[in-house]
Amino acid sequence: MTDRYQSFVASPVGKILVKNLGLPSPVALDRYVEGAPLVDGTVLVGGRGRLVEHLPETLDALGITSASLAEEGASYKGLLFDATGLTTPEDLRALRDFFTPVLRSLKASGRIVVLGTTPADTTSTDERIAQRALEGFTRSLGKEVGRGSTVQLVYVAPGAENAVDSTLAFLLSPKSAYVSGQVVRIGATGTTEAEPVADLAKPLAGKVALVTGASRGIGEQIARVLHRDGATVVGVDVPQAASDLVALVKELDGDHIALDITAKDAPQRIAQHVLAKHGGVDIVVHNAGITRDKKLANMKEDRWDSVIAVNVAAPERITAELLEQKAIRPNGRVIGVASIAGIAGNVGQTNYAASKAGVIGLVEALAPELTDGITINAVAPGFIITQMTAAVPFATREVGQRLNAMAQGGLPVDVAETISWFASPGSTAVNGNVVRVCGQMMLGA
Ligand code: NAD
Repeated sequence: MTDRYQSFVASPVGKILVKNLGLPSPVALDRYVEGAPLVDGTVLVGGRGRLVEHLPETLDALGITSASLAEEGASYKGLLFDATGLTTPEDLRALRDFFTPVLRSLKASGRIVVLGTTPADTTSTDERIAQRALEGFTRSLGKEVGRGSTVQLVYVAPGAENAVDSTLAFLLSPKSAYVSGQVVRIGATGTTEAEPVADLAKPLAGKVALVTGASRGIGEQIARVLHRDGATVVGVDVPQAASDLVALVKELDGDHIALDITAKDAPQRIAQHVLAKHGGVDIVVHNAGITRDKKLANMKEDRWDSVIAVNVAAPERITAELLEQKAIRPNGRVIGVASIAGIAGNVGQTNYAASKAGVIGLVEALAPELTDGITINAVAPGFIITQMTAAVPFATREVGQRLNAMAQGGLPVDVAETISWFASPGSTAVNGNVVRVCGQMMLGA
């Protein structure tokens, strides 16, 4: 499952062709290595507003070095700008004034994060314009920054100033390698507080995480990353995949349930299992998913029904049963796996895209209703290199891989790291978000 184009452009002949033909030139992205510091370099902090004063302290607590004044000749791994104090369209000039002189000092796989106030929480038309404008700014900068760097906008609701740590740790580190051009909302729905994270290296210590579709692909990587971060993983997969599932959970010192999540009694069996063996569950990741592609004109009933059943109806029923039985502990996390197809649509995927947009609907419905610090969010992966995408015809695969700001496909670990950020006890104020893990794909942007 190597990216042959990426190897080619790194070769001497490839380099010449890329330069002369203007071909996309993907760079190898930095990815998080267990035990390494979160950020390999300095983060330059600037801007004005409610957050800037505390940012150096927040970063310091995360083990991240920061500077508040740009120095001649210095280079930076991250640029963090507080834009919450920009309250008129004219104020937006502060973005140019901060970023333009330092953009060339941003290292490869650099991180840019702009903090704003949720537009719905602004108090004047001028302020709403300025805050909403940040979205156009960050999404454009994401498309032009290049060299594996990413750009995000984080809207922080008033009162949620102390709940940004887990999000900054994720967005400033290589854990967010394939996440760019995203808008994250903190404190928009439910609580504006966050639980402190006792051990930054093992933020999920003591937590029990249920992961469906865990035997391979993205699900396997989710299980591995949640385990790395300290969780006990309970993997779920169909009985046919039981041997791979058992081997994985054995390696991770976890537990498993071999069942089809669409079975009538699956929600009850899962709830009974986690209550009896673990006293409940803290993190539920609805990763299991299938495709049964056909154009709608040729769509048979069973293709439609099975995709809806696995991808959205089962997650809804399982979540409802776990909540009903109080099997999800306080400060629990429910995490859905949507897809870029559910946002942009895709030929031959009316069933799949409907099911994945339905996952977003599930997030929107439950986020305002959940109590006890329980949150629900979803990831929407773009082109992720797995067995599923290896089966896609070459030309389609090439287009899928190149049509994003990183000019390459993502890895299962990129989806897993995003899920682990949602799962963190520090992410209680991160509720109701759908974050794309798509390298800022041009489709449906
Ligand atoms: P995959 O086919 O490699 O893995 C899916 C897993 O889910 C398998 O282990 C499978 O046995 C399990 N599963 C399927 N039906 C099940 C059922 N009824 N009960 C229990 N387990 C079941 O797929 P993947 O590429 O790893 O995708 C994982 C998730 O990510 C899916 O929800 C998929 O739709 C989504 N996704 C993937 C991509 C991508 O590019 N690979 C892009 C967007 C979204």
